[in-house]
Order: sequence, then C-alpha cells, then structure tokens
Amino acid sequence: KQELNIIQGALELRTKVVEHVMTPLHECFLLNSNAVLDFNTMTEIMESGYTRIPIYDKERTNIVDMLYVKDLAFVDPDDCTPLKTITKFYNHPVHFVCHNTKLDAVLEEFKKGKSHLAIVQKKNEVEHEDEGEVLGIVTLEDVIEEIIKSEILDE
Ligand code: ADP
Repeated sequence: KQELNIIQGALELRTKVVEHVMTPLHECFLLNSNAVLDFNTMTEIMESGYTRIPIYDKERTNIVDMLYVKDLAFVDPDDCTPLKTITKFYNHPVHFVCHNTKLDAVLEEFKKGKSHLAIVQKKNEVEHEDEGEVLGIVTLEDVIEEIIKSEILDE
C-alpha cells in the first residue's frame, strides 16, 4: 500500500505544478532588508525554526536576498548588525521558478544542488520579462512530501 502510494506520487510529479505544493507567500517567514540583527530579530528568526529566510525590499513580493540561519553563527545581537551587512557578505543567490513548472523539473533543479529553496513566481507576459508576481516558496521537502504522500515530520 505504502509502496503504491510512493510510485503514484512519483508518477504524478510529471503532471503536478509547483503552485500546488508551495508555501503561499502570506504564510512565509520573511525579513525586511532593513532589519537590524538585534536580540528581538534574532529571537524571531530562531523561533521561526526555518533554516532559509527570504529577504524582501519594501514589499513582501519583492524578494531580493536570502539569509541562512547558519550565517548568524558569528553575529552578536549586542552589536545590532544591519541585516544587509550579512546578506552582502554571504551573497546567496535567489532562485526563482515559474508557478506552472512541473514538479519533476523543479526536482531536477534541486538535484543540481545549488539551493533547495526557490521563489515561486507568476510570469507576467504583458510586463517586463523578468518581473512577475511572487506567489510563495517551494523547497525540496515540498516535492519529496508529494512523492511519499504523507507529511514529513521535522526533527
Ligand atoms: P527548513 O529546513 O527551514 O525546515 P524545509 O526545506 O525542510 O525548511 O521545508 C519545510 C517546509 O517549510 C516546506 O513546506 C517549506 O515550503 C516551508 N518553508 C521553508 N522555509 C520557509 C520560510 N522561510 N517561511 C515559511 N515556510 C518555509
């Protein structure tokens, strides 16, 4: 029964799209690029429990950077370091995928190993090519969850 579910889940990767499995933007934990890494912000980050946090500029739909929690290893909250100092130093790339990308295609992207998180974008054909509405985020876990068809319980 379980094996059948897994096989079925794997077969459906070719038909399902990222929009179906993503975490919608309003549920995402993001940080403002102007944030200061003081005790409050650091506590919020730790309490969110996420390892990768998209950074936005002005509006939540404008994702410009990524913060990895491990980037904070040498940050002292007493120094009130601007978030920008850290993001500029690590300069992690932000990966985007189109909302109608099939799950097998995103899985291939994730397998290339650069990052296991991508920002889901709805391309706006009328407007500029590289501009699109941000709908949410998708991670490798969202895709794998679709294969095994049951929630993965995080440690
Ligand atoms: P983590 O390593 O941070 O636990 P995972 O890649 O294991 O993240 O993803 C677990 C779930 O959390 C997925 O459904 C993913 O879409 C969601 N997720 C990951 N990062 C964030 C974030 N910053 N805000 C909201 N949801 C997130």
